[in-house]
Amino acid sequence: MNGNLRVGNLFGIPFYVNVSWFLVLALITWNYGSALSGAFPTLPGTLPWLLGLAAALLLFSSVLAHELGHSFAAIQQGIGVNSITLFLFGGLAALEKESDNPGGAFKVAIAGPVVSLVLFALLSTVGQVFALGGPVGAIVSLLAYINLALGVFNLLPGLPLDGGNVLKAIVWKVTGNPYKGTAFASRVGQVIGWLAIGIGTAAILRISTFGSSWTLLIGWFLLSNANRSAQSASVQQRLDGLTAQDALVDNSPIVAQQASLREFADEVLLNSTGNWQRFLVVDTEGQLVGTISE
Ligand SMILES: [Zn+2]
Repeated sequence: MNGNLRVGNLFGIPFYVNVSWFLVLALITWNYGSALSGAFPTLPGTLPWLLGLAAALLLFSSVLAHELGHSFAAIQQGIGVNSITLFLFGGLAALEKESDNPGGAFKVAIAGPVVSLVLFALLSTVGQVFALGGPVGAIVSLLAYINLALGVFNLLPGLPLDGGNVLKAIVWKVTGNPYKGTAFASRVGQVIGWLAIGIGTAAILRISTFGSSWTLLIGWFLLSNANRSAQSASVQQRLDGLTAQDALVDNSPIVAQQASLREFADEVLLNSTGNWQRFLVVDTEGQLVGTISE
C-alpha cells in the first residue's frame, strides 16, 4: 500500500501506519483535547491536549488489539501474517493466505470483534468498579464506547467487514463452496454500502439528522470493496475446475531447434499472422525444448 510507514514489529509481525493516520491522530487529539478542556475547566495548560493525545493513542491501540485478534487466530492455524497496517478507516491484518476450511475462516473473522467486545466489557467494568470520574473516567468510558462500536460495526454481515467474513464462512459451510460464500457476503456488503451512502446523503441534504458526511464516505469505501470481492468471487468461480488445457491456443507457431535465426526471422517471424510474441521451439522428435521471444 502507498504512503505506509513501518514503525516496528509486534509479536514478529511488521507493523505499519498510513500517513493519513497522523492527520486523524491530530484531529482526535485536538477534538478530544478541546472537549476535555471544556468539560474540566480546572485542567491546567496543555494537560487537556496531552490527555487528548493519550486518548487518541489508546483509541488506535484498540484498533490494533482488534487486528491482533485476527492475527493470532490465523497464526494458530499455521497462517502467517505479512503485516498489520493502521489507516484512515481502521486497521488491516494482511494474512499470507485464507483458511482452507470454513471453520478456520469463521475463527479468524470473529476473533477481531471478540477482542473489541471483551475490551468493552473490561473497560466498562473498570469504570464501574473504581467509580472513575474526572478526565480519566471520561477517557475510560470513551474507550469502552469505541471498542463497543468497533465490535458491533465490524459485525455487520457484509464484506469487507468481519461480519461479512463470518457470513461467508457460514455460506461456505452450508454450500461447500467458498466462492458462493464470498459472492453472497459481497452482495450483502453492497447493500450495506448503498444504505450508508443513502443515509449519508440524506444527512448532508438535511433530510435526516442521522449520519454525516462520514457515513457517506464509509459507505463509498464499503461499496467499492464489496464490488471488488464480488468481482473476484465470480472470476474465481468461473476459473475453478478449468485447467491450462482449457486456455490453450492450438496453432501456436513452432520453430525447429536446428533452424538458423535467419530462417526463423524470414520464415516464421515475418510470415506469422496474429501478433505472436513468443514462439515454441521443438527438437527433431517434436518435443518442446523452450520458447524464443521476438
Ligand atoms: Zn476486524
